[in-house]
Amino acid sequence: MSSSERESVAQRDSAVQRDTGQSFDVIVVGAGFAGMYLLHRLRGMGLRARVYEAGNSVGGTWYWNRYPGARCDAESLAYSYSFSHELETEWNWSERYATQPEILRYAEHVAAKFDLKRDIRFGRRVTRASFDDRAGQWTIETDRGDRAVAPFCVMATGCLSVPQEPQIKDLDTFAGHLYWASRWPHEPVSFEGQRVGVIGTGSSAIQAIPVIAQQAAHLTVFQRTPNFSVPACNGPLDPKFVDAFKANYPGHRKNHRLGMGAGFGDLQVEPHPGGPVLETAAGKSEADVRALLDKYWRIGGANFIGVIADTILNRETNRVVADFVRDKIRAIVKDAATADALCPTSHPIGTKRICVDSEYYETYNRPNVKLVNLRDNPIESVAANGIRMHDGSFHGLDTLVMATGFDAMTGALLRIDVRGSAGKSLVDVWSAGPRSYLGLGVAGFPNLFTITGPGSPSVLSNMLVSIEQHVDWTVDCIDYMRKHGHRRIEPVLAAQDEWVAHVNDVANGTLMLEGGSWYLGANIPGKPRVFMPYAAGVGTYREICDRVVANGYQGFSFAS
Ligand code: NAP
Repeated sequence: MSSSERESVAQRDSAVQRDTGQSFDVIVVGAGFAGMYLLHRLRGMGLRARVYEAGNSVGGTWYWNRYPGARCDAESLAYSYSFSHELETEWNWSERYATQPEILRYAEHVAAKFDLKRDIRFGRRVTRASFDDRAGQWTIETDRGDRAVAPFCVMATGCLSVPQEPQIKDLDTFAGHLYWASRWPHEPVSFEGQRVGVIGTGSSAIQAIPVIAQQAAHLTVFQRTPNFSVPACNGPLDPKFVDAFKANYPGHRKNHRLGMGAGFGDLQVEPHPGGPVLETAAGKSEADVRALLDKYWRIGGANFIGVIADTILNRETNRVVADFVRDKIRAIVKDAATADALCPTSHPIGTKRICVDSEYYETYNRPNVKLVNLRDNPIESVAANGIRMHDGSFHGLDTLVMATGFDAMTGALLRIDVRGSAGKSLVDVWSAGPRSYLGLGVAGFPNLFTITGPGSPSVLSNMLVSIEQHVDWTVDCIDYMRKHGHRRIEPVLAAQDEWVAHVNDVANGTLMLEGGSWYLGANIPGKPRVFMPYAAGVGTYREICDRVVANGYQGFSFAS
């Protein structure tokens, strides 16, 4: 049987089979990049693992987010698994920033190469996970009636996997085509001849808008808050550059893991040579800072936000960097009123996730594109054929695209009825915001691990770097427990409290709390405002996690 035949048999079996009380060593929730690598590592240790996945195949965020223009805004050579040298050597990325279809092909390739699908049950959403203190086991239940038990449960549910569906009056009455960026249909969608509306101007919309504008008869963008976006300067990867990069792949990976920043390595060597960088603006004239920024604006990519090291720390530096970008916007967008509306003024640059675009601002120079500023004129309601504004004006639409973001970081975990020791509910324990030790575990929830959970660098980092680190840490911990006869592990409450305070202290030392971002839960009405990711960088964080292990899993308690 060929590997693709084996794949489809695994998927078909997955669709019909149901787990009815089977017992495993570890149950994993989610088959995105975290769940896939977990399965591979657990199997490598001879453990029996079961993965449950809501989608019908692997890939997580790259399975769901198929909107036009979707691509990774981290560089392909860095945003990929490092655990297999054979994999990283044989796989060839075609562009500096891979498209969603290419990343999904990569996920499928990894699943086939490591024969992952036979242990994944697709099309099942985990609804409940409960710990039985006496048996020392988790019971996992799905919406398709599966029920399975294991001593360990690992949540690999993703940081941005639950769409945020805003309450916009009469949205359900829209009679045209309604699409959600994060639940895009698998069939091709044509905008040819259509009057299209897009609600939202975050990373997803900023990628989709230029592509939709090229096809649609007319595009109206409904913007509530403008975001800062920098050019991707995407293009095909030069084979010579790739060969040279691959020749030193271990060196680059080390640089990604141990660098002080977000897991993309030192800007001086990764991946475009340049410098001097990672210096603060202190002692530099504004003109010198601007010259450096301009250089990185032309190189492109999210690294731009790290060019001046104190951008997120120093208000005046931040003002200089933000002014630079606002000036770029005004230089690109010809209509002055549109340019003004596109210039962010409500938050310091970098305190909301920086967007990376291809011709986003240029798109507003097209005659078929109009920006509607919801700050001046909010949406009143949706009608069957368009959107009515507060001032009574009306935008006729055939198609509406919602790019309104996610219930980030805690959304997927809290949608599962997670019950820890003595039936304690995670929803209750996190009612005032997430509390976790290292973003890896929660006091009162024994043998539960959260991959890239709140309190870890996660969304402030190269997700692949952080996923691999958390998976390795978790699997090594399970291995350690088995070797030392421990059957139960959980964070000590005092250690967790200390960690939560530290995460807050780090965030408080930056301007990040002023962003009103999804990092803080500020995009979800009623969600507690807690800064969720750990902002001290992946290198620092890794050192802390390694030290915890070296000190006998300091801050965790074990029981036999
Ligand atoms: P987002 O950044 O949260 O943006 C959501 C947008 O929808 C915002 O502009 C928001 O406006 C708007 N919105 C929400 N509710 C609204 C309402 N009721 N009326 C009008 N506008 C409303 O979400 P996203 O664009 O999906 O991006 C989320 C994150 O996913 C990114 O920050 C990034 O981390 C990740 N992502 C990555 C990639 C990539 O790597 N290629 C691509 C896409 C996304 P307000 O700001 O005013 O709330």
